[in-house]
Amino acid sequence: MSRAYFDHNATTPPDPMVIEAMARALKEDFGNPSSVHHFGQRAKAVLDEARSAVAELVGGEPAEVVFTSGGTESDNMALRGAAEALESAAAAVPRRHVITSSIEHEAILNTVKALTRRGWTSTLLPVDATGIVSPGSLASAITRETGIVSVMHANNEIGTVQPLADLAAIAHEHGAIFHTDAVQSVAKIPVDVRALGVDLLTLSAHKFNGPKGVGVLWIRRGTRLVSTMTGGKHERNRRGGTENVPGIAGLGVAARLARKKLDGEAQRIAALRDRLEHGILSTVGGTAVNGAPSPRVPNTTNISFDAVEAESLLIALDLEGFAVSTGSACSSGTLEPSHVLRAMGLPAHRTQNSIRFSLGAGNTEAEVDALVTKLPGVVAKLRSLVRR
Ligand code: PLP
Repeated sequence: MSRAYFDHNATTPPDPMVIEAMARALKEDFGNPSSVHHFGQRAKAVLDEARSAVAELVGGEPAEVVFTSGGTESDNMALRGAAEALESAAAAVPRRHVITSSIEHEAILNTVKALTRRGWTSTLLPVDATGIVSPGSLASAITRETGIVSVMHANNEIGTVQPLADLAAIAHEHGAIFHTDAVQSVAKIPVDVRALGVDLLTLSAHKFNGPKGVGVLWIRRGTRLVSTMTGGKHERNRRGGTENVPGIAGLGVAARLARKKLDGEAQRIAALRDRLEHGILSTVGGTAVNGAPSPRVPNTTNISFDAVEAESLLIALDLEGFAVSTGSACSSGTLEPSHVLRAMGLPAHRTQNSIRFSLGAGNTEAEVDALVTKLPGVVAKLRSLVRR
């Protein structure tokens, strides 16, 4: 059976050039980048090249790039590292208040919860019905005690893109640090740390055809952060531990490819996404797009199907050879409604019946058409079972 992969927001297949670079690094550049001899310096050259590639992709400087084990670690390092720095700063009014949005990834939400366990207060900003955080709500929530504001760039479930430059400007007016989780926007839309005005930015290689287990925290020069991974003097004292040279080699190649392909690929993917969305809405009744018409990354659409349980639809589509995902997490047989769709104020039947289709490099028009052809029958069958 042929299989089509529409779950690129979960992870992406590594590009063949990424795999080649990783294999080369494993075989030939096995030295420890901290070693002074030839082997060490070869490995260090791999890190330097990847650091430049990432810096160019996000518009920063190589020295501002810190390699991590992925998006989750970068989010942790940003919030915990900034919090620890603020805790140790001498200030008339202690800054122990963190603001984030109600639609963040768990890597942020659970780290904010961890901060509250050590005495911080937190505010979760609401979103509107299309999943956007309004700068006005940040302006109302921010106080003299706010030390950190963290708002994601693009949402992983619905793809909406936040007005980061406006949000970052408000944070800075009040003396707070601004972090963004850009795991779902990097390589999908232009990301420029200077234009956005952010202080800290998280990215993860496996979301743009790089390997899993490697990511970056971009740290604007001068931003105060205490290292959360204590150890040796790696990464300019910001993250201890011998670097994952093969993973970073793969990340570097993925970053170069992303930068080269960004414009053309974004247009191609947007056309495919729109074809899929239009195809579904016009052939399957009782469907609605979640998150539109807000600005969205070009690869994502999240669609609610009335009177269909999302998990059953996911399984039925998998049996037909189409990999998609639900907007909600299924834990031990209990369907948890998506916290993102709930925050948007959608009615219960839409928060539990939504499917995320996320497209990427390998997808073709033929795959989209095959899915649009199959879907009406699959949905009709599931609906008939529900009604019985
Ligand atoms: N942040 C967002 C928005 C994500 O979508 C993900 C992954 O799904 C992460 C963070 C975590 O990244 P990683 O899988 O590299 O830890």
